[in-house]
Amino acid sequence: MLKQDFNRQEPKRRNVADARKHQPADAAFKDSTYPHRLNFYTHAPTADITLEQFEQWAIDRLRVLSELEACSFRNKSLAETAAHMKPVLEKYLPLSSNSSASPKLFEQRQKDHYSHFILRLAFSSTEDLRRRFSRVETMLFRLRLDTDAERAGFVAGLDIDWFEPVSEAEKSEMAADLLAITGFDKRTGAVEDSWFKVDWMRVPELVESRKVFLRAGKAFVPSREQASMIVTEFTSRLEKQLVLTSQALPDLDEDDRLLPILDHLSKNFVTPDSSYMSGSTVPEGAEISARNIDNLAQHFPACMSHLHRSLRRDSHLKHYGRLQYSLFLKGIGLNLEESLAFWRGGFAKITDDQFNKEYRYNVRHVYGDVGGDSNRRSGGYSPYSCQKILTEHAPGPGEAHGCPYRHFDMDNLSTLLQGMGVTDRAVVQGVKEDRDGRRYHMACNRVFEHLHKPEIKRAKDESIMTAAQLETIVHPNEYFKRSYLLKNLSKPRDADVKMED
Ligand code: SF4
Repeated sequence: MLKQDFNRQEPKRRNVADARKHQPADAAFKDSTYPHRLNFYTHAPTADITLEQFEQWAIDRLRVLSELEACSFRNKSLAETAAHMKPVLEKYLPLSSNSSASPKLFEQRQKDHYSHFILRLAFSSTEDLRRRFSRVETMLFRLRLDTDAERAGFVAGLDIDWFEPVSEAEKSEMAADLLAITGFDKRTGAVEDSWFKVDWMRVPELVESRKVFLRAGKAFVPSREQASMIVTEFTSRLEKQLVLTSQALPDLDEDDRLLPILDHLSKNFVTPDSSYMSGSTVPEGAEISARNIDNLAQHFPACMSHLHRSLRRDSHLKHYGRLQYSLFLKGIGLNLEESLAFWRGGFAKITDDQFNKEYRYNVRHVYGDVGGDSNRRSGGYSPYSCQKILTEHAPGPGEAHGCPYRHFDMDNLSTLLQGMGVTDRAVVQGVKEDRDGRRYHMACNRVFEHLHKPEIKRAKDESIMTAAQLETIVHPNEYFKRSYLLKNLSKPRDADVKMED
């Protein structure tokens, strides 16, 4: 794609796109060198990157943050979260240690640095977005800190004025007291070698649980307890920076390249838009034909299941329902001919003539068979993601499109779920809580996991699908594909089906 660096624009654009103009007065205008794997994101990046990198790096980070947030919604423990996130991080935001001597060290750290700041811009506009961003960024930082073999070097380089290292002389003088707190280091038989001292008021919970040694108003904190102090500092700085960023946002008002990207990113925080991230393909071995849709409907998410039931019940769907459903069917692999056959059969109460006059054109348009040049060239429209369904065109009376987790009342939703085979009261209660917390796609994933529980276990146990392939679903077509594959694990020809990353 065309490389558009920030400084190669017409004058009006150049002014707003030059990252240096948005820096605080004390920003370091030099290329970052990234001596450590971890980053406190103290200085905004100032080098040029392309618009494509700007967008893709942010999307990749968003994928990681959304998956982390999903782990917390599912109440996963720290260890479970770490195990779940490992392949996701490796795929979207890998960070190698210095000792790995990876040739991609700089590239990885630069992406991490930039993507953090881009999302800062995208998520600083409202208090709700700031709170959520700071929460998930803190989770990411903690996860990385906990597993960082080179943490000591990073921590030593931090410019944190409220804690200072304990000198060797102090350590030997207080060895007995310090040992009483930590015991011997099992490996070396010595006192733990890394201690900090801080004003005791900074760590009341450590004082209360007697995990620190106290002297003259100072708490002596052993290395194992330092992570929470560092994480606290990370969060508090980030929260302040986010407020400052929100105040600087009006400066971006005229930037007609960055603003749409930032706007899209912040919308994706409701639920990530996977049409951006992965395509959907026909699962191998699936018969995708008009006559088989009733059978395939068992793999549909609630939104499409409801559309299918409504079509079968009323022999009709209104405009947005037809659009949402026909795009989904196109996405699962139903070709134009089969689609026309399906819709003709579905609208059973009207004549061929009426169907040809009123509906045929629209189906062909969806496939890019008619319409303007650009529609034909692009092959028609793409299937809607959850994000689009959740946020655009809320259904009115008599309309069946939308997302049932968002647009149904709880009674209707429970009835639909029952029809899909969800009778477990705990699951329905969980769906209700997700819905009340406006975590609609989490409710959908909860139902998916319930309906495919034994298959997911088997896919994991037998390594048929990796954790990354079982990431949170954010697209109805992904729901279908994954459901189909999971339910067909035992068929010999599908046994070795691997989903693409
Ligand atoms: Fe459909 Fe997405 Fe809603 Fe699930 S969350 S019902 S896939 S729109």
